[in-house]
Amino acid sequence: MGSIPEASRSLNSTTTHPFRVLVAGGAYGGLSAALNLQDLCRGLPPRCGPSPDGAGQIERPQFAVDITIVDERDGYFHLIGSPLALASEAYTEKAWVKYNDIPALRSPNIRVLQGSVKAVDPRQMIATFAAHGSGETSDLPYDYFVAATGLRRVWPVVPQSLRRKQYLFEAGEHVRAATAAKHGVVIVGGGAVGIEMAAELKLLHPHLSVTLVHSRDKLLSSEPLPDEVKDRALQLVREADVAVLMSHRLDRTEQTQDEHGNKCLRLHFTNGHAMLADQVSMAVSRPVPSTAYLPSSVLDEEGYVKIQANLTFPPNTPNAAAHFAIGDLVRWSGIKRCGAAMHMGYHAANNMHQQMQMQLHLAAGRNAAAAPPNPKFLELAEIPPMIGLAVGRKAVSYWPEAGVDSGEEVMRVFFGEDLGFGICWNHLRLGIDGGKE
Ligand SMILES: Cc1cc2nc3c(=O)[nH]c(=O)nc-3n(C[C@H](O)[C@H](O)[C@H](O)COP(=O)(O)OP(=O)(O)OC[C@H]3O[C@@H](n4cnc5c(N)ncnc54)[C@H](O)[C@@H]3O)c2cc1C
Repeated sequence: MGSIPEASRSLNSTTTHPFRVLVAGGAYGGLSAALNLQDLCRGLPPRCGPSPDGAGQIERPQFAVDITIVDERDGYFHLIGSPLALASEAYTEKAWVKYNDIPALRSPNIRVLQGSVKAVDPRQMIATFAAHGSGETSDLPYDYFVAATGLRRVWPVVPQSLRRKQYLFEAGEHVRAATAAKHGVVIVGGGAVGIEMAAELKLLHPHLSVTLVHSRDKLLSSEPLPDEVKDRALQLVREADVAVLMSHRLDRTEQTQDEHGNKCLRLHFTNGHAMLADQVSMAVSRPVPSTAYLPSSVLDEEGYVKIQANLTFPPNTPNAAAHFAIGDLVRWSGIKRCGAAMHMGYHAANNMHQQMQMQLHLAAGRNAAAAPPNPKFLELAEIPPMIGLAVGRKAVSYWPEAGVDSGEEVMRVFFGEDLGFGICWNHLRLGIDGGKE
């Protein structure tokens, strides 16, 4: 447990009520922050972690919050499932659920706006919002702000469509083109994303020739993981029947024809090797934080938010204690993972809720020193490198206490039957009607 004493003192004691909470980004982190906060304000145990009071049934005042979630997409996209969504049309349908169709968000105090957060002014506590499809901007004033907009990733790592209908078309085209590839598909980049893309494609379409190309002599070469994990990943990729070219750096790709006159691509590698393929998917580019809307003073040189352990903005930010950042866009230890994003959402919800209680107490005119009884703020611990990586029918897992494990059972435990869709959906309790709790 930590504390936000300095920051809390700077909070406005004559706050608006219900509290207006603005969450930028409606995926793992953002939905976790919004829904855990909703639980706490209703006097319920938070859905993604232990009750801060340590008790199952909570005795604390219930109060109202108005939660606005802003996302560029019109629905929740299960990003982990992207490699499968781009390999199987049946799964494509499943991986994107429109916000209107998510039962947990059906609550009069939660609204979801489709559009972008363009700017945030922490001093005035106003965000600038641009609605999807219109150039018009409007102001969204808030009492608490949560940045959960993740990282920007390129196609075909992630579908770029912002509406489900368009996404189905985009992904469907890709799946059909890949599966018709007579000369095979090449995935360039042996990081976690490239490995999953190659293995899912081969699993779903065993007749396809799928080749994974990596420029280094180990897969996952940029991850701070033991060599044993990297070697096990390579073993599983080979067991999945994916051809692997290690230490091959792609130089260029040219349009050509095969011996029958069919159009295809010729790939040239810097070591002189060349091969034909019909489709080349690049899984090499570094994703960048989607934080351009935040003041540069809260960002590091790469654009990650310099959070404090309690997940608030850096201490020199105006109203720092009312501004949280969670998920992939924060500068923190550990490999970027959806579990960490949901965990941070729970932390942020708890810390917001503790502050709201203090503000209500202060607003009621009581002595600040005595109130509220024993606030408990959560702090993020250092996160060691850990990973769960799906490789076709099997998965490899690693975290320091457990070491390396792999196989079909690891796949079942970490990803279930649907590449983690059900695990995340159930953890966030997205299927439970928000009006009924
Ligand atoms: C292919 C792939 C496979 C992966 N596999 C795994 C895995 O097996 N296990 C694992 O733990 N992790 C995995 N990850 C990582 C995991 O997906 C991320 O850690 C997780 O998505 C982070 O969640 P987030 O909520 O922080 O951000 P995101 O999930 O990136 O969500 C950010 C949201 O913000 C929205 N947004 C962005 N900018 C704006 C803006 N300006 N205004 C409004 N909305 C905005 C986006 O539309 C998006 O909905 C994988 C990632 C990829 C790409």
